Amino acid sequence: MVKILENLYSIDHSEAKNHSMESWILDCSEATILIDGGMTPAHVEGIGKELKSIGKDWSNVDLILITHKHRDHVNNLPKLVELTDAPVKAHELEAPLIKEAVGVEVEGLKDHTVLPYCGGIEIIHVPGHSEGNSSYYLKKYKAIIAGDTIFGDENSNLMPPPERYCLDVNQATAEMKRLLNYDFDVFIYTHGKDIMKDAKKQVQALIEEHC
Ligand SMILES: [Zn+2]
Repeated sequence: MVKILENLYSIDHSEAKNHSMESWILDCSEATILIDGGMTPAHVEGIGKELKSIGKDWSNVDLILITHKHRDHVNNLPKLVELTDAPVKAHELEAPLIKEAVGVEVEGLKDHTVLPYCGGIEIIHVPGHSEGNSSYYLKKYKAIIAGDTIFGDENSNLMPPPERYCLDVNQATAEMKRLLNYDFDVFIYTHGKDIMKDAKKQVQALIEEHC
């Protein structure tokens, strides 16, 4: 477990140096929220261990937020719902697709819905990687949890999501700019090393280069 911000913990599911993967736990006084759930039983175990290390257990998880329907983010949902009994939420276009993929109920959120936890969590719809692909903005922390909206590497070199993983790579690339509507310093994403300060400049440079 790595504490990346006050109340935010990253769970490293990486299996190889060049294929990093993360889920997150946001643990503030009013709620404990899991963001994405990994793919394999080992990832479930990893999340369980991390909860324990912050003095929580599965029953303390109040909500599961999902960025998008791809297997490395949702495959564990049936197990995670069984363990936590928590509601699962994702963008309204993605919710039925996640249900179709893994068979759990998912509540759909409209773009820009602000969930009233931990200083406000806003869902940002960024279509293209998948239909309802989304990032989450943590207002209080000036942080974006981008999921797969932007990819990167172990040196935090950012790149648009690779075509082979995208529903529509042109749309995914063009719509990255939606993130620039937010005031953020910290950029956290699934595949690559998180950027802990001045992140908006780097995201802006990426968008200027590609859009
Ligand atoms: Zn994906």
